[in-house]
Amino acid sequence: MTTRILLVEDEPALARGLADNLQDEGYDVRVVARGDQVMDAVRDDRPDLIVLDIMLPGRSGLDVLRDLRASGDPVPVLMLTAKGELVDRVVGLELGADDYLPKPFAVRELLARVRALLRRTALARPPDELTIGGVRFDFRALTATGPDGPCELTPHDILVLRVLSAHRSEVVRRVDIIEEVCGLDSEATLRTVDNHVMALRRAIGDDPRRPRWLHTVRGEGYRLTVE
Ligand code: CA
Repeated sequence: MTTRILLVEDEPALARGLADNLQDEGYDVRVVARGDQVMDAVRDDRPDLIVLDIMLPGRSGLDVLRDLRASGDPVPVLMLTAKGELVDRVVGLELGADDYLPKPFAVRELLARVRALLRRTALARPPDELTIGGVRFDFRALTATGPDGPCELTPHDILVLRVLSAHRSEVVRRVDIIEEVCGLDSEATLRTVDNHVMALRRAIGDDPRRPRWLHTVRGEGYRLTVE
């Protein structure tokens, strides 16, 4: 399937040049020149990635980004900031931009960022299911089934594994696990994560002293390794 990129840029020459280069890389590119047309384009095209300029007619890139995230759309956004717009860059990242590139930039730099961002997003997408230690986890139904039937795991236990499996082989900090599983405002503590991991280890038969899958990284968090 072709990767769709929505390019939001109001300088015609720059937009044309970037679109040509992105097309040469095999991407399906749509160009929008006004900020107030982005949400419609996103709805129509479901892009895999958005390259978003900040200074735009109609609606600023930052406002567009805010609208996108408020609507719950997680589409990766690479922001283009003018030189010296440090505030915009910081605000943009706070609003949920995934990366930024200060203007002026070399086209190959933009292409490299686009590639890296797409790769990162693909990796961060958790699988729908995973089998470890003979236990099959269904991350949509939030169930776990072992050889002897359903495991005694809570949906939160399974969500913790889902987060770890979305970042396979990486250390995931306990605070990030809490944030993803319980949300920022929850009462959960770091100890809560340990309890979920303990339950998961029990279910899959992983020895905490010599773990095969669920590794404790002292002072940092947890890491899942699966073959
Ligand atoms: Ca502009």
